[in-house]
Amino acid sequence: MRIVLLGAPGAGKGTVAKQLTGYDGSVQISTGDILRNAVKAGTELGKTAKGFMERGELVPDQLIMDIMEARLKDPDCQKGFLLDGFPRTIPQAEALKKLLAKLNIKLDRVINLDVPKDVILDRLTTRRTCSNVDCQEIYNIKSKPPTPDGKCIKCGSPAVQRADETEEAITKRLETYNEKTSPLINFYEKEGLLKSISSLSSEEIVAQVKAAIG
Ligand code: ADP
Ligand code: ZN
Repeated sequence: MRIVLLGAPGAGKGTVAKQLTGYDGSVQISTGDILRNAVKAGTELGKTAKGFMERGELVPDQLIMDIMEARLKDPDCQKGFLLDGFPRTIPQAEALKKLLAKLNIKLDRVINLDVPKDVILDRLTTRRTCSNVDCQEIYNIKSKPPTPDGKCIKCGSPAVQRADETEEAITKRLETYNEKTSPLINFYEKEGLLKSISSLSSEEIVAQVKAAIG
């Protein structure tokens, strides 16, 4: 499948994408994960992205497009991909449209995860992420806790709060979403690609995505 996952921070894009990758060999492409790995590795990209990310602001569009153009050309994307956290702005969506046309790739669907604001806020403050870059399993201290001493169940590394998950950065990320990303719902509606899903259970969302893709 070739899909875009849209939704506010905390809507569950990453969780759903991870569950869908096993379905038909499609790969998850998370610009957030790519950027966090670059920050950890201390690459040029990471050095540029770090400040924007910690403040809850978006990384400049051109930087993201360079990453995505290279990534979508990787051979493992042949079977399909799930874009998680990209596009994030109208210019990114327009650039993606051009890029896909150039690569002769057609999107199947754009899935919008429509989650109420109070649920989003609660999820973001209780979220923990495995600190092992090769794992990055997502936990929630209420609904899906790590081990009692805060370790990842899969790999044993500490499950930690992300640097951009302070209350201030979360508020900023939600503002950024409302201002820059939510207009994409309309954009993809007009493109005839949008499917909104308002379920809160990732299993149910996964089932609905599979049904929509056919
Ligand atoms: P979220 O949980 O907020 O959806 P992500 O892991 O997708 O988190 O992204 C974390 C941060 O990485 C964002 O706040 C932003 O700074 C940066 N980022 C990720 N994807 C993009 C993108 N497509 N365009 C610009 N910045 C991005
Ligand atoms: Zn782990």
